[in-house]
Amino acid sequence: MTPLDIKIRDQIKADGPLRVSEFMEIALSDPSHGYYLTRDPLGEAGDFITSPEISQVFGEIIGLWCAVAWQDADTPRKINLVELGPGRGTLIADILRTARNVMPEFAEAIDVHLVETGAVLREQQRSSLNDYDVEWHDRFDSVPEGPLLIVANEFFDALPIEQYIQTEEGWQERRLFIDKENENLFFGPYPPASKNLIAIPDVIRDSSVGSIFERSVAAEQVVGEITDRMVTEGGAALIIDYGHVRHGVGDTLQAIRSHKYHDPLLGVGEIDLTAHVDFAALQSAAQASKGAVFGPIFQGEFLTALGIEQRTNALTKNAPTEQADVLTSGSRRLIAADGMGTLFKIMSITPSAENSSAGFENIKEGIVV
Ligand code: SAH
Repeated sequence: MTPLDIKIRDQIKADGPLRVSEFMEIALSDPSHGYYLTRDPLGEAGDFITSPEISQVFGEIIGLWCAVAWQDADTPRKINLVELGPGRGTLIADILRTARNVMPEFAEAIDVHLVETGAVLREQQRSSLNDYDVEWHDRFDSVPEGPLLIVANEFFDALPIEQYIQTEEGWQERRLFIDKENENLFFGPYPPASKNLIAIPDVIRDSSVGSIFERSVAAEQVVGEITDRMVTEGGAALIIDYGHVRHGVGDTLQAIRSHKYHDPLLGVGEIDLTAHVDFAALQSAAQASKGAVFGPIFQGEFLTALGIEQRTNALTKNAPTEQADVLTSGSRRLIAADGMGTLFKIMSITPSAENSSAGFENIKEGIVV
């Protein structure tokens, strides 16, 4: 048993069945043993790989988006560039390099703020950005005032979710229990139904018995906070993640270890836990804070609209064959439907519909499903 396996069992014995969000919070963010606090999970040798780690072109395109967003915000003399969950710092380093190359006045205006809880990853970020002044934050709310650009790639999928399940008696929360015989953990409905019940969206309410609905209060709160800030201070946000465009049912809590699916209840603290992002919920949260929402659109569409193919061709032209092949296959993986091109979606938030967002111009309705 891992130290967190023991902690979770002790907590259930003391306080009763654990909410799925509490379970994720402990597994990922426990101060002593949480998954993200104790390791660098990225890369071939780790548990999973992300778009910026696949190709530099990803961060270069996001860098272009940032440069245009700075112009749309009337080129403020200072702007906070905030990344939520920056991993190894690869994306932010690619964005900053691009800014220096394409728009030095923008690069001059940037103050870098990274929201990261993990000490090991902070060290990695420090070495990726040794050329820059960087301020780290445990939470977004300590980022100083001023106009801001916010980028989050695969951050929201790591935030805790709550789960609800349809039963013969109606919707109930789904929680984590211990089997008294063998101490195994298992998920089950947690009556009483009425007490913890949130508003289940209309399109979900009549789902069949056994259906699971997920909600991430934590994710909605972050979106509310960043939108409030943009509405008062100006700026734009770009959220990139895998997930669904409409509210849906299904259990998307998943664990990954060494690039393979894993039982989320085995090896707590040593495996990655994520859930699909409900973009419809994030959209409502942004709109409740009076922000304008663009998309979500497919990652492939966004990267293509901002010139991933042209950029890849320019880079491959003068590169040795082997490097050119890596660049070409990397870009293909980022945009292809059988790669990350449609599983991943991109949504942008700005303070008002008058501030457009680069890459979304031709897509008025977002994804139609
Ligand atoms: N954006 C990076 C890494 C994605 S992994 C990339 O694309 O490669 C998720 C990142 O979010 C990690 O840096 C992790 O430490 C961070 N993270 C997860 N939960 C967090 C939380 N509650 N607060 C701040 N950072 C968090």
